[in-house]
Amino acid sequence: MGCKMDKLAIVVPCYNEEEVLPLTSDTLRGVLDALIEKEKIAEDSFILFVNDGSRDRTWELIEKEHAKHSQIRGLKLAGNVGHQNALTAGLLTAMDMSDVTVSIDADLQDDVNVIEEMMDKFHEGKDIVYGVRSGRSTDSFLKRTTAQGFYRFMSLMGVKTIYNHADFRLMSRRAVEQFSQYGESNLFLRGMVPLIGYETDSVYYERRERAAGKSKYPLKKMLALAFNGITSFSIKPINLITALGILMVIGSVLAAVYAFISYFTGNVVPGWTSLILSVWFIGGVQLLAIGLVGQYIGKIYMEVKHRPRYNIEKIL
Ligand code: UDP
Ligand code: MG
Repeated sequence: MGCKMDKLAIVVPCYNEEEVLPLTSDTLRGVLDALIEKEKIAEDSFILFVNDGSRDRTWELIEKEHAKHSQIRGLKLAGNVGHQNALTAGLLTAMDMSDVTVSIDADLQDDVNVIEEMMDKFHEGKDIVYGVRSGRSTDSFLKRTTAQGFYRFMSLMGVKTIYNHADFRLMSRRAVEQFSQYGESNLFLRGMVPLIGYETDSVYYERRERAAGKSKYPLKKMLALAFNGITSFSIKPINLITALGILMVIGSVLAAVYAFISYFTGNVVPGWTSLILSVWFIGGVQLLAIGLVGQYIGKIYMEVKHRPRYNIEKIL
């Protein structure tokens, strides 16, 4: 690593991107040519378009680009598996054919000009370089606030992510190889990549508007991504339910003591105590029970992932 002519693979997941694909192809080939010119990457570096079961002409366009330009390669998935899975398919395919990968969305919202900076950091010995948005002025108010709320909530829930970083990042071959050891099926890459543990760095850029086409992430998919991100990385919600259950049980016991004292001091409201106490107590016990079951499911779930228990950095 660190030697000059590393083979770069740019991995681009595409879902119904016919409107923007030719432009993306031109732009990214421009980036490759410039980097080859500056002798920062090998001449056989390439762009891998991953077609995530598009229902428009995306795949035909990829085939066309491939026929015209040797630098363009394509990977066709059998159906729509979603951005995270498509990106993973691309990374794992590119892994065996390259020394370093950069993943980027098809819509050119991320600044392709910082890829050079990413390569420089790679040559300095970094294994992972995050593309971080320094501003979101072009995003709609809704997108901006929900996205920022999402990052805050994630960290509240104990999921370590890089603030304002999505899936625009450089990964060395060994980082992708290590990532391939993470056997989980609920993928949330920006939570997983920081777990790899190699040396990382960030580059900053302004996020632009989509070059063409519409967002493939409607609110529903965004919420699904957020929910998956939290439940795949944290059992904090289960802990919260358990804590709530314990509080309610304690609360109902205290209320029982209060009712007992009231009984002897003589100011009892008939019917109230038995009703409210049983509601609280049963509710509390139920929450506690669910929480407890959840604890076990949480354990099973962490087990079932078969994550590697350690990453070997070097062997002498
Ligand atoms: N994408 C995908 N599969 C999907 C949805 C999206 O491969 O099911 C790709 C899409 O083509 C794009 C990237 O994921 O390259 C990000 O999607 P988009 O730009 O629509 O998301 P946004 O930037 O609006 O969050
Ligand atoms: Mg986008």
